[in-house]
Amino acid sequence: MNEIMKKKDIKSLNLIELTEEMKKIGEKSFRAKQIYDWIHVKLADSFSEMNNLPKPLRETLEENYTLVYLKKEAEQISKTDGTRKYLFELYDGNVVESVWMKYHHGNSVCISSQVGCRMGCKFCASTLDGLERSLEPSEMLDQIYRIQKLTGERVSNIVVMGTGEPLDNYENLLKFLELISNEDGLHISQRNITVSTCGIVPNMKKLADEALQITLALSLHATTDEKRKLLMPIANRYSLTELIDACQYYFHKTGRRITFEYALVGGVNDTDQDANELITLIRQVNCHVNLIPVNPIAERDYVESDRSHILNFKNKLEKNKINVTIRREMGRDIDGACGQLRRRHRKE
Ligand code: SAH
Repeated sequence: MNEIMKKKDIKSLNLIELTEEMKKIGEKSFRAKQIYDWIHVKLADSFSEMNNLPKPLRETLEENYTLVYLKKEAEQISKTDGTRKYLFELYDGNVVESVWMKYHHGNSVCISSQVGCRMGCKFCASTLDGLERSLEPSEMLDQIYRIQKLTGERVSNIVVMGTGEPLDNYENLLKFLELISNEDGLHISQRNITVSTCGIVPNMKKLADEALQITLALSLHATTDEKRKLLMPIANRYSLTELIDACQYYFHKTGRRITFEYALVGGVNDTDQDANELITLIRQVNCHVNLIPVNPIAERDYVESDRSHILNFKNKLEKNKINVTIRREMGRDIDGACGQLRRRHRKE
């Protein structure tokens, strides 16, 4: 294992844990608050800049803890909409990608939750090389901290929709959500955070029981178990009935409307029949549907639905009083789809 990760990862600790650490090394508890503020509000990159701490304490911190820091490896800026895509290097040489998007309601960051992914969805580039490892809470946080520092602009929305399956990294995801929404840190409202899952049913229910205010997005993409199995291997483990039940459970526990993501693949799931089946499937759920024109990846031969099919699909849902939007396709000129930038980087 890399030298630095033998030390304790201080950025993954909450204030209570940090206070415990200070007690252990014989420091007053108010130091914990100061350090927490340096890490999570001032976004310090080193212990040496924590200039209201006595020098000996800074040295003790240096010896015993690591301050996780992602290194910017590459940046692409979209000429069409200003979207920025970042490739960050982790302490062990692995790389992850994050995306910064500017909307009228604020800046949104899409973060990765794992290095690679083992879910195997057929249209997704992130999963082509399998799962390397899960990210620590600090590594999820620092994607946001780093981007806020690089752009000089406040991040107000977070979507956990980059590479990886967040509910396959459950404990670290939960810790990340606690740290990012905590009032002693960046204090990003849970209502402005969306976690997207391919549908790991037991963990969706577990998340519901945490009673957070985040939005849960479910990658649905098909309206029958047979068709979903062709696109998403996870469908072999959980049926659509179980999935919809888990969504209902999430809504009843949290009061938060579910988002269904539906990637439209030309000739595969974009017909009138698909739309009708979708309506029947989700009619009872308090939800919002996000239609995503599939972003074709070179390794697979899926094609985008044509515009008329997309609009027709949307109209059908609307006529049945289902909330629906077509996802704005941002950053297509810069390898916008999950995992594309990282893959290209690895090949080079
Ligand atoms: N593992 C999680 C989150 C990461 S993927 C999940 O499955 O939800 C984020 C979203 O992008 C998912 O809805 C996923 O199905 C979708 N996606 C992946 N590859 C895509 C592609 N090539 N075109 C369109 N959407 C894609």
